[in-house]
Order: sequence, then structure tokens, then C-alpha cells
Amino acid sequence: MEELHGRQKVVQKAEGVLLDDSYQLKEALQLTTTKVICQRCGSRFSKEESRLPNQDYYCPYCIQLGRVTGQSYLVFQEEKTRNTRPVTFTWQGTLTPAQEEVSQHILENYQHNKNSLVWAVTGSGKTEMIFAVLRYCLQNGGRVAIASPRIDVCRELYPRIHEVFPKEQTLLLYGDSNEAYRYNALTICTTHQLFHFYRAFDLLIVDEIDAFPYDGDTRLAFAQKNALKKKGKLIYLSATPPIHLLKAIEGTFCIEKLPLRFHKRPLVVPQLVWYEQWQYCYQSNWKIRKLITYLKKLLCDNDVLIFCPSIRYMQKLYKKVRQFFNPQEMTSVSSQDELREEKVQSMREGAYRILFCTTILERGVTFEHISVIIMGANHKIFRKSVLVQMAGRVDRKGDYQHGQVLFFYDQQTQAIRDACEEIKKMNCLAKEWLSR
Ligand SMILES: [Zn+2]
Repeated sequence: MEELHGRQKVVQKAEGVLLDDSYQLKEALQLTTTKVICQRCGSRFSKEESRLPNQDYYCPYCIQLGRVTGQSYLVFQEEKTRNTRPVTFTWQGTLTPAQEEVSQHILENYQHNKNSLVWAVTGSGKTEMIFAVLRYCLQNGGRVAIASPRIDVCRELYPRIHEVFPKEQTLLLYGDSNEAYRYNALTICTTHQLFHFYRAFDLLIVDEIDAFPYDGDTRLAFAQKNALKKKGKLIYLSATPPIHLLKAIEGTFCIEKLPLRFHKRPLVVPQLVWYEQWQYCYQSNWKIRKLITYLKKLLCDNDVLIFCPSIRYMQKLYKKVRQFFNPQEMTSVSSQDELREEKVQSMREGAYRILFCTTILERGVTFEHISVIIMGANHKIFRKSVLVQMAGRVDRKGDYQHGQVLFFYDQQTQAIRDACEEIKKMNCLAKEWLSR
């Protein structure tokens, strides 16, 4: 059996009893008189719903990770203890005073055994603010993971982290990644990968804590707790922490707010544009007229991202809008698009002027010279945090470009109200920070 320090794996019981004594075993399924509790994902369910033909049980809730049954053990080894060591850190940039303050607070919280939530507006430069605590933890022999619910966020983070800690054998783990697991001190992974760890990390940083599918998934919360050492600490990063999260961490986390963007300009406040029956606007030249008019205006200053609530709607809209512009200047991306990374890169390089997308581009991506249109801001998929994130794509870097955010809608929703209010509140707070 391979080494499993801080790692957990499922084995058959017969195989488990033969392992040497450095391995620890626990029952994968705990049975009560009527219920089964899975020790890998924390799900509780009735014996009836999970009975196998041979009268054994299995967990249906984490089966995508390989089946656990009553005949399985979870096997792991204690995490190694390591000493302080030199860590090569080659970052050349500097933090703004506001970033410096937050960076220092996070470090101090960690040193004093406290968890942190970094509530920093989109475009504030969150990643740079965790360098100091990362370095400190590694230097003290600690093991760190940076996890995100979004694969794209992990992929964007990996080269940036690797660049500043070039001598760490940084590991990038996600569902289809080609990298095999190996023992190391610094890991970047999707939150789903946390199911494979057990009491491994001294520091676990969860980026985009409010993103789907992490938010509200009790199994991921269970995995996160298991992956952390008993005395391990958490840092959550978010531009849009949901209220239930703020309530849940009250008293156990220090909240570090950063309302200022890197360039100190305020967040762009969305303009609400009434668009009667936007759902059907691709059906005729008459119905699409409003979108085309606004789009032409926005294109005078910037390229445009058009967020759509579904892939099918996006495709219909894309087809219609093509009739009014040079088709070579526009493209579309979705989660089903194999070329999505290439297309996003081409957009950055100026190959396209209009990019249609779904919520996959809501966070983690930066374009210069961009305005944003949200088709159907009142659609239920566009929660408050999603709206704030999409709006946050505008004016992230470079000089001011007159980027705009338009919410097309035909019904007022709580999410729209809350998103606009939160953006305005953060701008007020930013003003205070600038004047102090
Ligand atoms: Zn399970």
C-alpha cells in the first residue's frame, strides 16, 4: 500500500486487516438500528434506501468517488510532523496599503489560532493577500491547501502560486487533472478533492466559498472538516459571502473586509433596464431591437460580455444577434464547450468584440475594456452573489474605460435589489477607507 499521510482511501476489509500498523482503519459506514451514516461524506440515510442484494449497505451519496459498503474500511496514516524550513518566495510585486493591512491581519489571525473570512470586493487582488500567511505556514513546516469549488479558479491560481513559490512541489488536483497524487506541502484543488484527505492541513484556504457547488453542500462541508487537522485553521475568501455563511461563522471567524479595488475606483453600479419579455427577444427583429441598440452603444467604448441564464437560450440569442454584426467578431462559451479556454484567451487578445456566456465566466476571469450585459437578471439562476460577481467583471484593471453593467429584466427580484444595494454599500465603505 502506498503512503497515506493525511490521505484517506477505501479498502476492502480483508485487505485492510493485512496492512501494517502504521495504517489506521475506521468503518466506512456506521450502522444504527434504522440508519446508515457514511464516514466519508457524512450523509445519513435509511437502511431501506441503500440495501444491496446481498443485504449489505452502500452510500449512494458519494458513489462517484467509488463505492463504500459495510465491507469497506477507510484507511489513512497520521500526518507527518515536519520542522521549520527555508521557503523560496520570489514575488516581486507590492501590496497597496489596504491589501497590506488585510494581509497582515490574516497572518496575525493564523498566528493566534483564529480563522479568517476575507470579504474583498471583486478586483481587489485577493490572491496576493494570502502570500504572507502561505509563506509563514510553509516555513513552519505546515501543510496547506487552497481549494475552490471552481475548476477554472484552480487552473488560474496554480501558475500564480507556482510562480511565487517556485521550489514547492505544488500539486494541482481536480476531477480530470492528469496529475497523480504525491505527498507535498502545497496543494491547489477543487473542493471535491477534499474527500480524499484526512487531518492533513494546518491551513486550508477556500477561495470563492460562496460559489456553486460548494455553497450549501453539507457533504463538502463534512469533507472540509475532515481534511483539516484538529488544530488546523481556515481562511475563506469571497467577494460575496451569503448571509447564512456570515451567520454560521459568527464568533468563530475574524472578518476582514476590503471594499477597495486594486486601482481604488468604485465598483460599477448596475443600470437596470426594463426589457419586456427578454425571454423571447430572439424571435423577431422587432423584439431584439432593444438589445441591438444598447449593444451598439456599449461597443463604442468597450467589448461586451453577454451573460445568459442557460446554454440553449444563449445559442438562440447568439444566432439572432449574429445577423446584426460581423459574425467573426463574436463567439460564445459554456461549460459544454471544449474550446472554452482558447476562446476566453482569444477574447482577451482582442480577437472578438462580443462574447456570449453562461455563469461559468461569472468569476475568476479578467478582461480589459469590457462592459457587461445580463440577459434576464430576474432569472432565478442569478442569485445575488452571481449578479455581484458578473457586474464585478467590469473595470478590473488598466485605466478607466467607461465600462458599464446593464441588467435587462422584466420583473424586480430580491436578488437584483440586494446586489445593487451591496455594491453601493461597498462603494460607500471604500470612500471611507480612502478618506481616513
Ligand atoms: Zn458517502
